[in-house]
Amino acid sequence: MERPRPSADNLYGLLMGPASVTPDKPAVVEADGAGTLRETSYGALDALTRRYAAVLDGLGLDVGDRVVVEADTSAASVAMLLACSMLGLPFVTVGPQTPDTRLASIVDAVEPALHARAEHLAPRERVRAQGRAHFGPDGLVVERPPARRVRRRREVLATDTAYIVFTSGSTGRPKGVVMSHRSIVTFLRAMLQDRLAGPGDRVASTSPLQFDFALFGIGVALSSGGTLVPVRREDLGSPRRMIGFLRDAAVTQVHGVPSLWRPVLRHDPDLLKELHRVASVVFAGEEFPLPELRRLQEMLPGVRLVNGYGATESMAASFTVVPDPLPAGTERLSIGHAHAGAEMTLVDEAGEVVTEPGRTGEIYLRTPALFTGYWNDPEATAAVLVDDPVEPRHGQKVLRTGDLARLGADGELSFVGRSDFQVQIHGNRVELGEIEGTLTRIAGVSSAAAVLVPRAGDHVLAAAVVLDGPEGGSTSRRRSRSARGSCPPTWCPARCTPCRSFR
Ligand code: ADP
Repeated sequence: MERPRPSADNLYGLLMGPASVTPDKPAVVEADGAGTLRETSYGALDALTRRYAAVLDGLGLDVGDRVVVEADTSAASVAMLLACSMLGLPFVTVGPQTPDTRLASIVDAVEPALHARAEHLAPRERVRAQGRAHFGPDGLVVERPPARRVRRRREVLATDTAYIVFTSGSTGRPKGVVMSHRSIVTFLRAMLQDRLAGPGDRVASTSPLQFDFALFGIGVALSSGGTLVPVRREDLGSPRRMIGFLRDAAVTQVHGVPSLWRPVLRHDPDLLKELHRVASVVFAGEEFPLPELRRLQEMLPGVRLVNGYGATESMAASFTVVPDPLPAGTERLSIGHAHAGAEMTLVDEAGEVVTEPGRTGEIYLRTPALFTGYWNDPEATAAVLVDDPVEPRHGQKVLRTGDLARLGADGELSFVGRSDFQVQIHGNRVELGEIEGTLTRIAGVSSAAAVLVPRAGDHVLAAAVVLDGPEGGSTSRRRSRSARGSCPPTWCPARCTPCRSFR
């Protein structure tokens, strides 16, 4: 049976639209192993996507079967995500840095039909997905096929799941945010309407693939007919290499968390003068410390700095251009108004909508780009997909974000903080409860507490673990070291202090 062509309401349909119009235009520009720039045109990306899709299709999977994709952002991994989208196979992205224990808990949760990894990565023997494969520029190689399914249908619907992104969960387990094709496509169309990027843009993406900021970069670059420029992890490690790469790849728009800019601002700010082609910088994920933001503005004169605010549950909620120069006396950055087609409403503790400027409330987001729910977690879903506070009677759900904001005179919002124990570490969302849960699962640790501590203009995580048993000295130190080792590098506590119970 011929596979039905995915509609424009499918992520593949939207992102590969330019393939038929401008097949020769570069879709992805990346550095190869030797650091040389390599271009993949829209036509070549589409061809690779179709090659992967043909192999996936041959496995007999059903719409809705999950595929874990372990890779960094590259032309090949983008093709893999698009191939999954074309067939209605939700993808679950994980970065190569993800510890085995975390990957295993994601695999246990989503029970994927296939774990597909970039070809240069070693297989993960401890992670038991049904099927196993690797992929690269030459194709997708299945090492262990999953069991064949009885297919219910082959047509992919707009309401089918496009992807699941795992974020930190307060109960100590990662939480899977399920996004449908309709939601992500609606969101990306809003970005087109707001002209976040255009066909002339070369968009640098710096976030690891398991974060939706990476999916945002892929989506924004390709849906607007521009070029995606993934920055390699090794290049992000040095300001000189990062700036040199952005310059050589003629990047016009840079996406990244605020801390991306910290090393270059601290150690070699003059390097920023080399970024002649950069016209805009989009940052998101946490507040940009104002002294650093002012410095970045000084070093990148005329560059549009955009404060992206939002959460994985709807990809993002608003994009606000930072005033240039930032007025003296600014205490908090504006997160402005919601993007096209969405609305942010502030609600106070009594459940009343805040209308008076100067007052603070929790942000509730109404948008057709909302996530479907948390994977296999109806309770957590019900806690955040709630009745619309403006008019609950029509039964529509909105997102209760947990973020607090202050209402400005023109209805614009300024971010104030969280209403719970979620924190951001260099733009990575972490529930302190998940760190504590991870630490207490280690043998010999009976309880744990994690906090965010300010350090030299930045902030770091610190934890204390209570060890059971009478040992002290080197055993406690060894245990607390192993406690740190079991956390993903992005949210590994900088310090883990062993404590013993009082007797
Ligand atoms: P993102 O990928 O946008 O970081 P996450 O789901 O990882 O999304 O984290 C969402 C949370 O990050 C928000 O609920 C908010 O607390 C915080 N956040 C995101 N963007 C901003 C911003 N621009 N300013 C302040 N906090 C932000």
